Amino acid sequence: MKLILLGAPGAGKGTVAKLLTEVDGSVQISTGDILRGAVRAGTELGKKAEAYMKAGDLVPDDLIMGIMEERLQEPDCAKGFLLDGFPRTIPQAEALKKLLEKIGAKLDFAVNLDVPREVILDRLTTRRTCSNPDCQAIYNVKSNPPKVEGVCDKCGSPVIQRDDETEEAISKRLETYNEKTAPLVDFYEKEGLLLNINATSSDVVVQTIKEKLGIA
Ligand code: AMP
Repeated sequence: MKLILLGAPGAGKGTVAKLLTEVDGSVQISTGDILRGAVRAGTELGKKAEAYMKAGDLVPDDLIMGIMEERLQEPDCAKGFLLDGFPRTIPQAEALKKLLEKIGAKLDFAVNLDVPREVILDRLTTRRTCSNPDCQAIYNVKSNPPKVEGVCDKCGSPVIQRDDETEEAISKRLETYNEKTAPLVDFYEKEGLLLNINATSSDVVVQTIKEKLGIA
């Protein structure tokens, strides 16, 4: 399957993408994960992206398109891909359209995960992430805490709050989302690709997508 996952930070794009990879082996491509990896590794890309990310701002479109031009042409994408956190702006969506035409790939849907703002805020402030880059398991201090506080169940590494998940950075990320990313819903509606899903349960989202794709 070839899908874009749209939705505010905390809408569950990463969780849904992970579940979908298990359905048919399509790869999850998260620009946020790629950028966090670059920051950790101290690459040129990481150095350029870090300040924007910490502030909850978007990284410039040309850097993101540079990443995606390469990533989408890697062989593992031929089978299918789940774009998680990309595109985030209209220029990125337009550039993606051209890139997909160039490589001869056709999207199935742009899935919009529609989650009420109170649920998003609660999820983001209580989310914790495993600090081990190879694990990155996601926890929630209220609904899904690790068995031992602050320690990852899967790999034993410290479980942390992401730098951009402080209250201040979260409200900036939501503002950025409303201003720059929410207009993509209209963009994909006009393209005839939009699938809007009321997304409070990730299992229901996955089931709905499978039904729409005829693989339920
Ligand atoms: P995420 O994990 O998707 O919430 O991304 C974390 C941060 O990485 C965002 O707040 C942005 O600073 C940056 N980022 C991720 N994807 C993009 C994108 N497609 N365009 C611009 N910035 C991005």
